Amino acid sequence: KFDIVIVGAGHGGAQAAIALRQNKFDGTIAMIGEEPELPYERPPLSKDYLARERTFERILIRQPAFWDERGIAMLLGQRVTGVDPDAHTVTTDGGETIGYGQLIWATGGAARRLSCQGNDLTGVHTVRTRADADRMMGELDGMTRAVVIGGGYIGLEAAAVLAKFGKQVVLLEALDRVLARVAGEELSRFYEHEHRAHGVDVRLGARVDHLEGAEGKVTGVRMVDGELLACQMVIVGIGIVPAIEPLTAAGAAGGNGVAVDGQCRTSLPDIFAIGDCALHSNGFAEGAAIRVESVQNANDQANVVAKTITGAIATYDAVPWFWSNQYDLRLQTVGLSIGYDAVVQRGDPSTRSFSLVYLKNDRVIALDCVNATKDYVQGRALVTGGAVVHPAMLGDATVPLKEMRV
Ligand code: FAD
Repeated sequence: KFDIVIVGAGHGGAQAAIALRQNKFDGTIAMIGEEPELPYERPPLSKDYLARERTFERILIRQPAFWDERGIAMLLGQRVTGVDPDAHTVTTDGGETIGYGQLIWATGGAARRLSCQGNDLTGVHTVRTRADADRMMGELDGMTRAVVIGGGYIGLEAAAVLAKFGKQVVLLEALDRVLARVAGEELSRFYEHEHRAHGVDVRLGARVDHLEGAEGKVTGVRMVDGELLACQMVIVGIGIVPAIEPLTAAGAAGGNGVAVDGQCRTSLPDIFAIGDCALHSNGFAEGAAIRVESVQNANDQANVVAKTITGAIATYDAVPWFWSNQYDLRLQTVGLSIGYDAVVQRGDPSTRSFSLVYLKNDRVIALDCVNATKDYVQGRALVTGGAVVHPAMLGDATVPLKEMRV
């Protein structure tokens, strides 16, 4: 039995263990992780790791010795399949039963897969784990044509890496613009244009019928209108399914994620949930119950749980932030643009450095900054303060955002 058992050795799980020790927690801690690797950063899997610009050792969240030195037991390569809240135990796929005092559920999600025919052919990839990325990288040599399904951040980043490798890439997005769920139209059009300028064949309103293959290997994507896009690789980036089944089977409240309160407590006693799988009321979304899929959210929720366990008072209310690297473009976002009713552009997208400021009821709720770190840094205070600034002033890129605080 361990005082704390953390399920999931990803961003949230790792940070929970780190923060517990930082907060002087001296009880026993075990982390159970399905992947065989020590905790590593996931964002590089569609960025510089995939581009072979960073090795696996360089994306580890901590060097191997760290966990030993902090007395954090790493039980890796094991999946938790059951939770017994009454007995305070979890069971693993290896048949082991492990007791806990308090449980931190930090399992993230599984990459959503296509449901159409051909989804299980060799050469069809999702990008969630190091193993996924390695499998994909192992097929790059000799591969000339790829189809990316999904115009979200992961699909776009993967497309950018493949284009950089000189591959022919078709990117299929079902909606009428890329990044439709997470950004305003101006940003979508900008990235659409950038990808086309780099040779990516971006298709909007694209409807996939099924995947075709020969001898178990993918050979093409058949569209609903009958067109066949021949390819040797398909990358599917269509979101995740939160990995919460054992918890909901044990009776935890939730739906699209495990429901948690301001301290990330689930409805089950002594069980917290954090990160991509945690359905929480977010103050930057007017208190709506949402899941936020970002490193910031996983880390900050982990910090709240560590503080709560060690007796400090903490509530999750951190400002959301996120980044995406594509080509030589560094996008940094702060706040959540959900439900915005106006957008102000700062700077000229044709210079490849500009920002979008999202407003709701005249208040600044979010910024998307492309190669514009100053706006990102200075805009944060506008978002946290819910500043009211006249759009004409916001749009004047000669006036720094820090001068617009009210
Ligand atoms: P994870 O980091 O996914 O960790 C969960 C772990 O739990 C996994 O190792 C999983 O195998 C394990 N697990 C699941 N179920 C079980 C079980 N039953 N038993 C044991 N172990 C289990 N965020 C950003 O902020 N910026 C970015 O640029 C960015 N880029 C990304 C690029 C890619 C390719 C991906 C996949 C994600 C990206 N993200 C980015 C999102 C970010 O990585 C996630 O939000 C973050 O990893 C969430 O942390 P987590 O702890 O909730 O889940």
